[in-house]
Amino acid sequence: MNQEIDTHQGGCLCGAVRYEIRGKPEWSAHCHCRSCQKALGAAFATWCKVKSENFRVTKGSIQTCETSRGVERGFCGTCGTSLTYDAKQEVEGQNWQGEAWFSAATLDDPDIASPKSHVYICNQQPWIKLDDGLPTFREF
Ligand SMILES: [Zn+2]
Ligand SMILES: [Zn+2]
Repeated sequence: MNQEIDTHQGGCLCGAVRYEIRGKPEWSAHCHCRSCQKALGAAFATWCKVKSENFRVTKGSIQTCETSRGVERGFCGTCGTSLTYDAKQEVEGQNWQGEAWFSAATLDDPDIASPKSHVYICNQQPWIKLDDGLPTFREF
């Protein structure tokens, strides 16, 4: 109800898990890595991030699975929707502690994501054609 606080909601397909972020995503990008392709069952994943303190689960709970060393992916235990990505340690020189990553498409209003790049295009599927003019990175 407070107009001063810019909050946005999201959740999984079945509605068992709901979350809220404060403020707009600080960063968003499409990831074409094989892990994301497998985890989401899609050609690429679109991630957003906010500071950890600006992300909270408001309904249900996020199940996690360690999908590679130090990386936990979060999903709804009922419908399987991929929701979060959490690197517990440095990944390829990046330290993402204190950040909450979540799948842009799970926002109620995914428009607010506005992705800024494509990463891991070394794994981009040949049948995905990029024509959005965004910068691309072979890896991260
Ligand atoms: Zn669900
Ligand atoms: Zn990825």
